[in-house]
Amino acid sequence: MPVRYDVSVEDPKSHRLQVVVDIPDVTGTSLDLVLPSWVPGSYIIQDQARNVRGVRASQAGTGASLPVSKQDKARWRITTEGASHIEVRYEVYGHDLRDDGVDVTTEHLYLNGGKVLAYVDGRERESLEIAVHVPSTWRVYTELPEIGRSPARFRARDYDELVDEPIDCGTPVELTVRPAGIPHRILLCGRGGNFEAHQVETDVAKIVEAAVRLMGGSPLAHYTFFYHLADGRWPVQGGLEHKNSTSIVVGRTAFRPEEDYRRVLGVTSHEYFHLYNVKRIRPQVLGPFDYTKENYTHLLWAMEGSTDYFEDLILLRAGLLPPPKYLDAQGKKIQKYVNTPGRKVASLEELSFNSWIDLYKPYEETPNQSVSYYLKGDLATMCLDLEIRHRTEGRSSVEAVFRTLWEEYGQRNRGLEENEILTVANRATGLDLSDFFQRYIGGTFEIDFDVFLGHAGLKMEPQEHPPGKEDEPPAGWLGVTLKDDAGRARITSVLDDGPGRRAGLSPDDEVVALDGQRVAFADLPKALQRFPPGSSVEVTVFRRGFLTSISLETGKVPPEKLLIVPVEDATPLARRVHEGWLGVPWEARKKPSVPSPAPTG
Ligand SMILES: [Zn+2]
Repeated sequence: MPVRYDVSVEDPKSHRLQVVVDIPDVTGTSLDLVLPSWVPGSYIIQDQARNVRGVRASQAGTGASLPVSKQDKARWRITTEGASHIEVRYEVYGHDLRDDGVDVTTEHLYLNGGKVLAYVDGRERESLEIAVHVPSTWRVYTELPEIGRSPARFRARDYDELVDEPIDCGTPVELTVRPAGIPHRILLCGRGGNFEAHQVETDVAKIVEAAVRLMGGSPLAHYTFFYHLADGRWPVQGGLEHKNSTSIVVGRTAFRPEEDYRRVLGVTSHEYFHLYNVKRIRPQVLGPFDYTKENYTHLLWAMEGSTDYFEDLILLRAGLLPPPKYLDAQGKKIQKYVNTPGRKVASLEELSFNSWIDLYKPYEETPNQSVSYYLKGDLATMCLDLEIRHRTEGRSSVEAVFRTLWEEYGQRNRGLEENEILTVANRATGLDLSDFFQRYIGGTFEIDFDVFLGHAGLKMEPQEHPPGKEDEPPAGWLGVTLKDDAGRARITSVLDDGPGRRAGLSPDDEVVALDGQRVAFADLPKALQRFPPGSSVEVTVFRRGFLTSISLETGKVPPEKLLIVPVEDATPLARRVHEGWLGVPWEARKKPSVPSPAPTG
């Protein structure tokens, strides 16, 4: 008999869930129930056991209560007293609409199992059942196989599958498309979305088709996109991949204008590509999972950074991102990367390994000691793609590497060893790529983007004056990042190699005056125009409550944007690589540096 979970929403106003775990076939004098400390896909310890209360155990049938003692922050030990069938009850608080959250409101129940369903230690590999008891007007959606209705009941092969597929109950807008002949359900959960249903259907279908084409097939019988519409001004607020579904949180008005909507399509493409990369092509340690502690791998750069690269490439292939805009987006990423001093400190492998204490826990020194493995992983994958296309004279690409990973690992449910991507890349392309991996994946060798872009007849060009700012005098640069602290300019980070670091500005300093003249957060950029690069300025700050003055020489503001532009004398091979990469004839290249006269909506 399987372990069965019954999850009920008795009073949605309380944001609480009632859970009953029915445990048959008990042997031994005790059993442990454990709630995961992290959720696969979010590589950070979240300690969700803090939301659990009132754990009680009893003998099934007689109702005789059994002793429960807590062994650690997320482990409850039940003394069986000879019982072979046990029931455990507890409550979980859930008021969290993030992609990996649990949200109980009068409008819906959104359930990520790993935050609610404690597993019976030692029985994680057994098949399991879950029943969901919600108001009768709500429909229940999940990719778990259904085995009954009223209440809705589902079966999972094991605990990993049970907690991998989220369950959403409510009254969402439900759309279905069949790209590549496979039913894909699109659920828009939450009120007030400014989406146009037909547009969403068309574009999601294009993304699916492009991804399936790129990978040469699909393992899916069906799939669900859960979109949760949230408050807040950010178009995309999160996305979490699952094997047969994805949970995406977007601003409720993110479907217009085009710029915001493209981000929605971007996260859609990213999470969808994950069904191959990380959910099936995966490092050995990422499945079966150890839910009690960090699961370390050096490969997150390929799981997340390469997925970021394919995110935009799929939009490009799907015709949802025109080539000039694609290059524009890559240029912005390069700009962000080269302005992060921490790129020189940690390699992609180290950044991946440190995710648990680094990417998900940024603080004032983060920009100096690390760079996002999403960002560098994306750019390194792009450079690897261009390197392969160049050296094979257009016959192979990084797409071939991922297709091979898919065929040899993903489809065979074989986990990747920590150093295997290089081996596969070599085999898939017929090249020896060890130098590339040593420099840019295992090392912190500075990436010369002009060399890699040159393989496609392109180069970098700084955009000194972004559109609309051509007439503005060059402002001086303090080499710090700032935040608006109730109108005051508060330093959040002091960047290595910048004037602020050399002169001794400090995180948390409140900048109050330049050469004695008061400044606030809003007018600091203008005020710095009085001190062009190379000027001396006295910066007055409040530091831990006391006024301090620091003299420094202003630096040059890093370009707001780096543009990727065609070179004049591209070789025939570079033209061919360009065409294969971007899918457009060389003659169609357009200087993306020319800003459109009126920005599109
Ligand atoms: Zn991702």
